[in-house]
Amino acid sequence: MPQRRIVDRLKKRCAVCGMSMRVILYRGGAYRGGHYFGKWPLHRKREMEKALKAGTRKVRFGDSWYNVLKEDPKPYAHAEYWECPKCYWQE
Ligand SMILES: [Zn+2]
Repeated sequence: MPQRRIVDRLKKRCAVCGMSMRVILYRGGAYRGGHYFGKWPLHRKREMEKALKAGTRKVRFGDSWYNVLKEDPKPYAHAEYWECPKCYWQE
């Protein structure tokens, strides 16, 4: 197996346990050392309260009903959501 070229080494923090981990990025977009779940919206408390005040509605998902916000709170930023291998494999 040919050695894959390493593009970058990143330090990321696990969103579940807060442990820092080393993530190795390879050319071509592959990575290892952590599990990336995409961008996670961050909300300010005020935006969240506004959205809660707008109320919720019941939404059916499969056999269950869920309360879903009528209005989504406006995120002020997006953070990358990473989990360390330990947390990822726990579930
Ligand atoms: Zn973790």
